[in-house]
Amino acid sequence: MSIADNIKSLKKETANISVKLIAVSKTKPVEDVQAAYNAGQRLFGENMVQELVEKYEQLPKDIEWHLIGHLQSNKVKYIAPFISMIQSVDSLKLLQEINKHAEKSKRVIDCLLQIYIADEETKFGLGFDEAIELLRSAEYADLKHIRIRGLMGIATNTDNEKQIKDEYYELKTFFDGIKQSFFRKESSFDTLSMGMSADYKVAIEQGSNMVRLGSTIFGQRVIKHWKNN
Ligand SMILES: *Cc1c(COP(=O)(O)O)cnc(C)c1O
Repeated sequence: MSIADNIKSLKKETANISVKLIAVSKTKPVEDVQAAYNAGQRLFGENMVQELVEKYEQLPKDIEWHLIGHLQSNKVKYIAPFISMIQSVDSLKLLQEINKHAEKSKRVIDCLLQIYIADEETKFGLGFDEAIELLRSAEYADLKHIRIRGLMGIATNTDNEKQIKDEYYELKTFFDGIKQSFFRKESSFDTLSMGMSADYKVAIEQGSNMVRLGSTIFGQRVIKHWKNN
């Protein structure tokens, strides 16, 4: 199926449930992003700052770009003027840096706290306790140019569906608790980003309202360096 067909069938699949679809275009050429755009897709996710900036410059300006990969503090300045959402906030220090550059751009940047739920050493993210500590801190209370919209999590890369289900269940439970404790009066705390190509159906069953799909839309990623495509 073509990229356009994939977008259309995913839109159909999610038509009756309130789940936002992020098309993860990392490593894929701008032509592929444009094809998805032409099929009506407007939300795109990237995990590398340089690739994101170059695609932003070449593509239509009504695209909403989401950063979904680990962000180094010294690179925040390149995306602060235009990014729609940073899903991969994993420290107070990073949040402070985002706030600083958002202020320079006269913006308030929407962010998700990335929560560590996988049984793997390599995934970034805050532990449950660390997220609570961040939200309780006086430093966080001072930040006026970021807005925490919710949480993001990546499940373990495994065939064990029960394990994935348990990890997403745990994140949904945590999300509900955080909403109740810290954002009861803020309706903008509304986003639970969980689910990738391999596990998005399980994620939706467990309460996800934002899925990040790459290979389901664009095909497998074989080439690592998108510019050499
Ligand atoms: C690459 C990536 C995705 C999409 O992965 P697919 O398996 O291709 O759907 C989703 N979320 C994050 C954080 C990613 O890095």
